[in-house]
Amino acid sequence: MDLVVRSPRMPQPGETLVGRTFAQVPGGKGGNQAVAAARLGAAVSMIGRIGADANGAQLKQGLEVEGIDCSGVSSDAALPTGVALITVDDASQNSIVIVAGSNGALTPEGIAAREPAIAAADVVVCQLETPRETVFAAMQTARRDGRTVVLNPAPVTAPLPRDWLELADFVIPNEIEAAALSGVTVDSPEAAYRAAAALREQGARTVIVTLGGQGVFVLGDHNAQTHGTHYPARRVDAVDTTAAGDTFVGGFAATLASGRSIDEAVRFGLAAAALSVTRAGAQPSIPRLAEVAL
Ligand code: ATP
Repeated sequence: MDLVVRSPRMPQPGETLVGRTFAQVPGGKGGNQAVAAARLGAAVSMIGRIGADANGAQLKQGLEVEGIDCSGVSSDAALPTGVALITVDDASQNSIVIVAGSNGALTPEGIAAREPAIAAADVVVCQLETPRETVFAAMQTARRDGRTVVLNPAPVTAPLPRDWLELADFVIPNEIEAAALSGVTVDSPEAAYRAAAALREQGARTVIVTLGGQGVFVLGDHNAQTHGTHYPARRVDAVDTTAAGDTFVGGFAATLASGRSIDEAVRFGLAAAALSVTRAGAQPSIPRLAEVAL
C-alpha cells in the first residue's frame, strides 16, 4: 500500500516539512505490474502475500476488480501488508521507502505450490520486493517450464549473481538500478549502452534500461551488432512519475505475451508509460488498452 505525501520539496535529513496532501493508494511493484498487464490486455495471475489487515484486503480486492486471478495471493496472520512511504515534490520527482511486511514471508515453497500458474503463463514477471531466494525459485521454475522470464531488478543496491541474470530473458532496470547492477553511472542513452553491455557480460540476455523522460535503451542479441536501440520518450506534461516504470514493464510483458516482437512491445510500453506520468498515483495512473495510441 502506498502512503503518498505531496510536499513542496524533499526534506533534508533532520528536517520537518509541512506537506500539501496525503493519500493511501494501492501500489507495490508486483501489484502495479499485474494491474498494468491486465489493463493493457493480458490475462494475469498474481503470486504474492498480504497481511490479515485492511491494507491487504483493499489491495487484493483492487486486483480482483481488474480481473486478476489472486488464488496465488496468500495471507499472513502475523505480519502486516507491505507499505511504501512515498514523497512527491513539486518537480514531480518521488522518493520512496518500502517496508516488506508480509512480502518478506513469501517462500520458495509458496512458489512451488503455484507451479501450475507459472507453467501456464506465456510471460513470468518478477521483481525484488519479495525474498531473493523466492524470486530465484520463481525464475528457475519458469525457465524449467520454458516460459519467457522478465526480471525488473528493483529495488537493488548491488550487482546480482551471474546465475540470476542468466535466468531472465529480459532484465528491465531503471537508471539507478542499472547503475547499481553494472557500476556504470547512467544518465544518458550512451551511458545506458555501457551499463547494458556490462550487464550482458554479467550474463543478462536482453537489457532494457528505462531512462525516465529520456525513454528506454534496449540491448540484446537482436540489436547488439548496431550497439542497441534508443527509443525516446513521448513528450508529455509529467504530473507524477510513480508507477511509470511498472506501467512500462506491464505493457511490455502484455504485448510480448500476445506474441508481438520486442520492438512492438517496447513501443507499446513507452506509450502506456507516457500516459501514466500525466496522472497522479500508482495504480490509478495506469492506462487501459483502449487509451493507448501507438
Ligand atoms: P518510477 O519509479 O517513477 O515508477 P522508474 O524509475 O522505474 O519509475 P522511469 O525510467 O522513470 O522508471 O520511467 C519509466 C518509463 O516511463 C520511461 O522509460 C518512459 O518511457 C516513461 N516516462 C517516465 N518519465 C517520463 C516523462 N517525464 N515523460 C514521458 N515519459 C516518461
